[in-house]
Amino acid sequence: MVETVSKRDIRKLKLDELKEFFVQHGEKAFRAQQVYEWLWHKSAKSFDQMTNLSIGLRDMLKEHFTINHIKVDHMQRSADGTIKNAVTLFDGMVVESVLIPTEKRITACVSSQVGCSLACKFCATARLKRQRNLTPDEIYDQVVAIKEQSELFFGRPLTNIVFMGMGEPLLNYSNVISAIDKITSQKGLNMASKRITVSTVGVAKMIMKMADDGVKFNLAVSLHAALDKTRSAIMPINDTNPLSELGDALRYWYDKTKRKVTYEYVVWKGINDTEEHARALLKFCKIVPSKVNLIEYNPIDDGEFQQASTEVLDMYMHILESHGITTRIRKSRGKDIDAACGQLANKS
Ligand code: SAH
Repeated sequence: MVETVSKRDIRKLKLDELKEFFVQHGEKAFRAQQVYEWLWHKSAKSFDQMTNLSIGLRDMLKEHFTINHIKVDHMQRSADGTIKNAVTLFDGMVVESVLIPTEKRITACVSSQVGCSLACKFCATARLKRQRNLTPDEIYDQVVAIKEQSELFFGRPLTNIVFMGMGEPLLNYSNVISAIDKITSQKGLNMASKRITVSTVGVAKMIMKMADDGVKFNLAVSLHAALDKTRSAIMPINDTNPLSELGDALRYWYDKTKRKVTYEYVVWKGINDTEEHARALLKFCKIVPSKVNLIEYNPIDDGEFQQASTEVLDMYMHILESHGITTRIRKSRGKDIDAACGQLANKS
């Protein structure tokens, strides 16, 4: 019967709470520190891994707590080296996260929500709808899993993290921030904030909140159109957060953080492939110091959206670059395993 008493997830406790627990149970407070280090810095998945604790103490912890670690149930490898993980959460829900290797970097692309509420017309994740927010540890664990794969398969450390998996990070703000705090803390993974990028559909009020909070990571905005009519037609968020408000929020962000903004932008045939669109983007890019990633479209459906031609991309490049806006064309990675931008949809 004792087993039916619901055990607490030990990682929900702050260090102080853990210390209090240990003292209440007649243990030395420094033990809490050791356990905390196992839980976060060493990413222990079971109490039995905590070999510097006595077996009696491990048993006592097992009586009271569980460690709700995520499980990487399914791993796919792309011909280009990209790895996609299907990650099962403690309640059986599944999200995906991706390891993207390049010559210089290994990037973890992590999810922040199960599904997504934003309904961007070109994105596969949107079709899953939003089921729930991920907890800080579920976000942290995705990074840990990719860090381990990075060392195992590539013999190199994880260098970058992008919040470009499933979900909208700014609609799960506090959990994303707590995860990043742990990822960057010495007691956690000790990674540099400047190697982390949070990508948003453009929730103006939350961009301003991030600026107020003094965050140190980078900001990317999925822009895709700099004309309201076009943007609203493909991204419903634009109805409540039109470009003028987004621009104001970005100005606020830049004034406070002095950090350049990256715009993600796909060019589609018949949607945003005119010079008028390219010039509108140029104008938008002048609001704050910024750069543009023109990302390759990854088809998700019957062809409503199609990648624009190379000539159109060249036209964009020319207009932006000739006015000093750094512009890169980003080839997609992991397409053969549906691991590329916008393709994460728990197909497997
Ligand atoms: N919700 C956040 C995080 C998701 S990031 C955001 O919108 O930024 C995923 C990135 O892939 C976004 O830039 C998104 O606009 C882009 N994307 C979505 N579907 C895509 C597709 N089919 N092909 C290429 N990029 C896509």
